[in-house]
Order: sequence, then C-alpha cells, then structure tokens
Amino acid sequence: MTYLRIATIAGTDAVLDEPVIEAFKSSLRGELLRPGDAGYEEARRTWNGIIDKRPALIARCVGPGDVVQTVDFARENELLMAVRGGGHNVAGMAVADEGLVVDLSPMKGIEVDPERHTVRAEAGATIGELDEETQKFGLATPMGVVSETGIAGLTLNGGIGWLRRKYGLSSDNLVSVDLVTADGRFLTASETENPDLFWGIRGGGNFGVVTSFEYRLHPVGPEVMFVFVLYPGDRAKEVLGFCEEYVAQAPDEVSPLGVLGRVPRDELFPEKWHGEQYAALLAMYSGEGERVLGPLRELGDPIADLSGPMPYVEAQKLLDEDYPDGWRYYWKSVNISSLSDAVIERLMAHAEAAPSDHSTVDVWYQGGAMGRVRAGETAFGDRSAPYLLGIEANWEEKPEDDEANVAWARDCVDDMRHFSDGGMYLNFPGFLEEGQEMVRDAYGENYQRLVALKNEYDPANLFRMNQNIKPTL
Ligand SMILES: Cc1cc2nc3c(=O)[nH]c(=O)nc-3n(C[C@H](O)[C@H](O)[C@H](O)COP(=O)(O)OP(=O)(O)OC[C@H]3O[C@@H](n4cnc5c(N)ncnc54)[C@H](O)[C@@H]3O)c2cc1C
Repeated sequence: MTYLRIATIAGTDAVLDEPVIEAFKSSLRGELLRPGDAGYEEARRTWNGIIDKRPALIARCVGPGDVVQTVDFARENELLMAVRGGGHNVAGMAVADEGLVVDLSPMKGIEVDPERHTVRAEAGATIGELDEETQKFGLATPMGVVSETGIAGLTLNGGIGWLRRKYGLSSDNLVSVDLVTADGRFLTASETENPDLFWGIRGGGNFGVVTSFEYRLHPVGPEVMFVFVLYPGDRAKEVLGFCEEYVAQAPDEVSPLGVLGRVPRDELFPEKWHGEQYAALLAMYSGEGERVLGPLRELGDPIADLSGPMPYVEAQKLLDEDYPDGWRYYWKSVNISSLSDAVIERLMAHAEAAPSDHSTVDVWYQGGAMGRVRAGETAFGDRSAPYLLGIEANWEEKPEDDEANVAWARDCVDDMRHFSDGGMYLNFPGFLEEGQEMVRDAYGENYQRLVALKNEYDPANLFRMNQNIKPTL
C-alpha cells in the first residue's frame, strides 16, 4: 500500500492511504494531480517566480460539484487548503506547500445577459477572457489593468482599474456570487439571499470558494482613448501635482494613474532617455476622449507620448508585457492623504533608489464612484483616501537579487506610512509578513463584523491561505 504525506491545518502532516486518495479522485470530474504527474509542474507554478511551493494534491475542478467534493475532503481530513483563481496573487496564496489546492483555473465559463446588462463568469476566468466576451456586446465591468490577472482574487479584495472612478470597484459591481462554504454547502449570496455573506464577500473573500461571479455591465467602448505619456522624472512634482488638480475637475470617466520608474531600453523610447527616471501619466476614456484627456498630454516636452485611440480590449492589455510570468515580484501599498511636494520628493527619491530598472512607484488617483460607497456598506472598508500608493518591486529571474528588491519596497512603504492616515490595499499585500495587523488596518471598523462572519461560516479557518480574517471561537 502506498501513502501520501500531506500538510494539515494543525501544522502537522497527515498520512492518506491510496484507497482514500483514489476514492477522492474518482469523485471528481476534473483531474487530481500529484507530484510526478503530467501537468503537475505547470499546475503548481504561479505568476510570481519567487513562489516555489509543492502541493501534495491539486484538484483541477471543472464545476461546482468538484469544488464541493474537494472542500469536503479537505474539511474531513483537516487539510491545509489553498484556492487558486488566476494564480496572480503576489504573495503566492493560491498554492499550499505540501497541502491541497482547489484549482479553479479550468472553470472559465462566461455568459453575458445583454438584456439585464449582467455577466456570470466562473472563477477561473481572467480579466482578458471576461473583457473579450463582454465587449462582444459593447459592455464591460470594472476590472484591473493587466488582462492576465484572475477575476477571482482581484474581485474578492476589491479590484481597481481604469473604470474605478466611473463605476467603482469590481466588487461594487457584484450582483451575486455562488460559493461553497466550509461545511460543503453550495449557496448563492446577493442583496436578497444570504446578504450577510454578500456583504463579506465584497472585499472580504474569506468565507468559501466562490465558483462564479455575477457582475453588472456598463456600455464601454468598443473604442476608447488611452493616454500614456512619459515626462522626465525630475518633473514629477509638476506632473503628479498637475494631475491632482486635473482630477479635481475631471469627469468620473477618467481614473488616472501616475507612475515613477526608469525608461525601458526599448526602441519605443529615444535612446538618450534609456535608464533615466520618468514620471508617467496613464488614463483611459470610453469614447472620443481626446479633448477630455488632452491636458494630461500637454505639459510639454515629454520623453514619449504613446497615447491614442484603441479598442477597449487592447487598452486592457497594454501593460501585460511589463509583467512577464516567472519574473520575481514583491508589491506593497499604502493609502496617503495628500500629494504634497514633500510626499512627491520622497517618492522621487525612492523611485531613484530602486535596485531594479523594472520597479515602479504608482499613484492611483481614487475618489469618484469608488469613493462614494460608505465604509460600512461592503467589507472592503473605508474609501476616503484620495491616493493609493502601489510600490512594485519587479525584477528578473535572479534569486540573488531578492533581498535588495524586497528591502527597497519595504523601506519605501515604511517611509510613506508617515504620510498616511492608515489603510492599504489587500491586493498589493507583500508576503503578508505583517499578518493580522495589516489585515485589521485594511478593514478598519469592518474588521469585527468580518470576524463574526468568519466565526459563523468558517470557525475552523479552513480558508486561511488568504488575507486571513482569523476566527475567534
Ligand atoms: C500583473 C498584475 C497586475 C495586477 N493589476 C491589478 C490591478 O490593476 N488592479 C487590482 O485591483 N489588482 C491588481 N493586481 C492584484 C490582483 O488583484 C491580485 O494579485 C489578485 O489576488 C489576483 O487574483 P487571482 O485570481 O489571479 O489570484 P490567485 O492567486 O488565484 O488568488 C488570490 C487569493 O484569492 C483567493 N481566491 C482565489 N480565487 C478564489 C475563489 N474563487 N474563492 C475564494 N478565494 C479565492 C486565493 O486563495 C488567494 O488567497 C494585479 C496583480 C498582478 C500580478
């Protein structure tokens, strides 16, 4: 008889014998992969090359029934379990080392209801796949700005992108979700069915495996205007400051992003600027936006102006090539309350100190529709901060560069916290090294309500490989 060693939630190993594994395998319509199986190596890998975990079992679920079987198997054997959507969580939470993975990536069904302006998408879909389908009907729902990201993890912790000031967070656009809870029930959560769970899912994502998301859709595109203009980095105060004034009077249609980084060594940019600091402005406008977005391009003497009209699906892919699969990444974030000269000076100094040419400091201009949802309305919490800083350490495949790059991002975020009234974005969480304190800080006054919900729906903390809300029972 052969045995399988597998991690449990108690932090010890369990030993499962072959008939138990075989019975589980035959209960699934999808594959059950173990180390050595064809497809295992690919299925265990995530987008972030730093993450190198070897699960004992990967259940490649093809429908909600497989998810129920897998959650039941994990609960009954008290196994350490991770849930994988698109596998883009920077901290690698989609994979449990030595544990069990509920892999939803084969579940990609997407169905648009053009009459109701809604779409139901299974949890393995990526942003690009969702956009492609909804755009066939001239519609879209707010998602992130890189098309290969999974919709699941992104939505469960909010979801910010080019439509955030017009239509809010991805989670604000949820109409309902179907999910499997820790006790193996398959439920729908919406404003009218299990509304407590629906509140928690919109930003909280700790209460079950969501098998499909139903979103509201809006008319977007098919053509949009996209601004992408790089100015010299030493003009960052002028550029980011101008954008602050611009946003104050711009329509909600515009959700800009300011980026400080180094000019890529690419023929798109004049050679004399290669490797020099830039201060870039990016924004999208659905429809003919030349006039509205024009001012962002008119500050004079840019390094390069890559702006232009394009299909919405292309705009959503514009940044994909900056984030190759398998590179090494470490991202942090912090809300800040003002973009004073002192703040921008610090940001410029940090951008300049980055050990990697690919790292950036990003300023997400918030407000608009996403800011109008009150903190208690959804689990996501307080949205009053006008700016979110994203600190992206991005470097190539060399592990020997890890320490310097991680240290850079941590230094930067520690310094910028001096300019924060609290809060950060749980989709840019680092490696979760700050644990409970960070999660508490992100949820603010919603935290206790989330703990109560966790106590009710997942008292054993089966769903713990996430930005974890710890039960107190
Ligand atoms: C290149 C890149 C660009 C990004 N751009 C943006 C952006 O523009 N805007 C933005 O808001 N975020 C952005 N993000 C962050 C992104 O939102 C998170 O990394 C998110 O976790 C990705 O979701 P996923 O499904 O791919 O993740 P996964 O790694 O699969 O999962 C992430 C977390 O969610 C849990 N989870 C996944 N699926 C489910 C499910 N169905 N049910 C329950 N729990 C589940 C996992 O257990 C894990 O803890 C970006 C990330 C990357 C890598």
